Amino acid sequence: MKPYFDSHCHSSNSFDAENTVEEMLARADKLGLEYLTITDHFEAPCYYNQNEEMGDIPMLIRNSIKDIKSQQQAQTGTKLLCGIELGEPLQDIKATEEVLGLTDYDFVLCSLHNLKCMKDFFWLDYSADKIPELLKAYFLELLECIQWGNFNSLAHITYPLRYICDKANIAVDLNEYKGQIDEVLSLLAEKDLALEFNTCRNDALGLSAMHSCRDIPFLKRFRELGGRFITLGSDAHKTADLAKGITGAVEILKDLGYKEAAVYIKRQPCPIAL
Ligand SMILES: [Zn+2]
Ligand SMILES: [Zn+2]
Repeated sequence: MKPYFDSHCHSSNSFDAENTVEEMLARADKLGLEYLTITDHFEAPCYYNQNEEMGDIPMLIRNSIKDIKSQQQAQTGTKLLCGIELGEPLQDIKATEEVLGLTDYDFVLCSLHNLKCMKDFFWLDYSADKIPELLKAYFLELLECIQWGNFNSLAHITYPLRYICDKANIAVDLNEYKGQIDEVLSLLAEKDLALEFNTCRNDALGLSAMHSCRDIPFLKRFRELGGRFITLGSDAHKTADLAKGITGAVEILKDLGYKEAAVYIKRQPCPIAL
């Protein structure tokens, strides 16, 4: 089976991505994707207070929308959808509301790359004694984002674990956070919002390696708590990574009992049979 859609990827209108919307779409078409959703970065705390690393987000987001709308006119077999990745939406709600009003998005992802007044989890120095405090604050802010709820899918829920476990080599026992994780996933399910299966653009993972993917316990528990909608994204930042891991992820979802995933069009879930 072909990887037939990718609902999380970045164009060169994201500070950390390489290829234009046109190039991403051409690659998706070549791969035979039915849907491609570009979700460029909006980072709420850096919208009015720009920093060098993230660049001019107000301009980049407007360019992203413009490029997507323009490429939607192209004759391709892939349907191009207009998304956005809202980073830390509550850390500057005025900026978030402004960016949500810029266009009629097809799809809105919610992410938490950093806690309030802190750097991206990527940049933090970790020591084992600091982890509980960080993760408790992370799950609490996720819960607040879901209470707010003006998005479609919660992106890469395991984001801090990438750096705590893989980079700093510190083991995390998720059972210690079970209460908070259940609260997050229950509220997501109750509000009929989606949970993302982020493949981390990792295709080196064959199916068996994907089974050890960190998102799996969350996907499993989400279903147990009544969650219905799953979105799938590679989080590609260049054409070469587009749709990587999606095929394996589909197989895992089927094993977990999911019958369908969702692609969002005009912010409504369109079920895709797995
Ligand atoms: Zn992200
Ligand atoms: Zn992303």
